[in-house]
Amino acid sequence: MTATPMIELQSIGKTFNQFVALKPTSLAIEQGEFLTLLGPSGSGKSTLLNLISGAYSSSSGKILLKGKDITSAPPRDREIGMVFQNYALMPHLSAFDNVAYPLRVRGVAKAQIHTRVMDALKRVGLAGFEQRKPKQLSGGQQQRVGIARCIVYSPSIILMDEPLGALDKNMREQMQDEIKTLHREIGTTFIYVTHDQEEALNMSDRICLMNEGGIVQLGTPDDLYFRPVNAFAARFIGESNLLAGSALSATEVRLKNGQVYSVAGHPALVPGQAYELLLRPERVRIVAPGQGGAMARGTVAGVAFIGSLTTLTVNLPDGSALKLKTTSLPSQNRPQPGEAIDLCWAPEDFIVLGAEPPATPRHLAAPDAVGYSSVISRA
Ligand code: ADP
Ligand code: MG
Repeated sequence: MTATPMIELQSIGKTFNQFVALKPTSLAIEQGEFLTLLGPSGSGKSTLLNLISGAYSSSSGKILLKGKDITSAPPRDREIGMVFQNYALMPHLSAFDNVAYPLRVRGVAKAQIHTRVMDALKRVGLAGFEQRKPKQLSGGQQQRVGIARCIVYSPSIILMDEPLGALDKNMREQMQDEIKTLHREIGTTFIYVTHDQEEALNMSDRICLMNEGGIVQLGTPDDLYFRPVNAFAARFIGESNLLAGSALSATEVRLKNGQVYSVAGHPALVPGQAYELLLRPERVRIVAPGQGGAMARGTVAGVAFIGSLTTLTVNLPDGSALKLKTTSLPSQNRPQPGEAIDLCWAPEDFIVLGAEPPATPRHLAAPDAVGYSSVISRA
């Protein structure tokens, strides 16, 4: 027996009029876990978060908090904290009073309020900023106040909806590290929403990848990057080359262009069945002239030197293109557009994906859309 999950969603779903914002979805989140909901805009991430916080009432299913049914409990009774993208601070109140607010509405004694607010502000690096109004703080500092206001009353779960979305890249990266550290220090369960795959990979214990109102894949960052379940997951996480073909034998795939490649370490393929081969750009290597062992020959179409990495786009004779990424080459060794180039990789660098299932409709007009349940696999 494993411990009771911190929160368990049982076929929870949400429709707005006839539109399925979230298909019935089941998900268990462990105590102390950092789980990220990742997906494109409109995939249902905020809907799921709002169902957990109680801002939305569910259309179907149940929510259990530490085993207790809270499906119809008002937000105030859930003891779940929320951090918003737009900070949602009260502009006329100081940082101190913004953070004190949730304690005051809970009737906490004045002396205790002072200690707890000062502690929360210190934790987010804002000691000394107590008397500033939101407009006297930078975006990053305002979000720190938002986080302090959330941790100050020690909620069971902290929800964050794209909390770094309004910040510039450097501040976002710094705050990612700070939120990770905060999570480690306070040990509270975090459910974090982002559409930024690198942010999700960097921060999470597990990622729940969503699309079209349902879960596509639930797993560790490694699972999603190295073992994507389908082409959507492969495209959404990291960069990918996807080569379509069909199995020639249990271990070989014939691409549409007629090339046959061996794949290694994958369960036996079904001859004749359609598959896609995923080849990450960093697995593709350049074969030095005269070295032999080329798996593909093409023409350099584009070269991007971005400091630490060089990325190449190579056009293949059949009109397709392969992306490759290497640690940077000095300019005299960097291939130039128009040059012929030989490429190689190992059979085990291919990740074999099944063909994509057809998309499920999101309107209830489809009679079976209600009974749809997201499939969650933890390989
Ligand atoms: P995400 O946060 O992943 O961008 P949302 O959960 O906000 O996506 O939205 C999922 C879908 O549900 C979207 O198509 C959105 O337009 C729709 N939706 C969300 N909230 C509402 C609402 N209050 N009323 C009507 N439609 C909504
Ligand atoms: Mg959203």
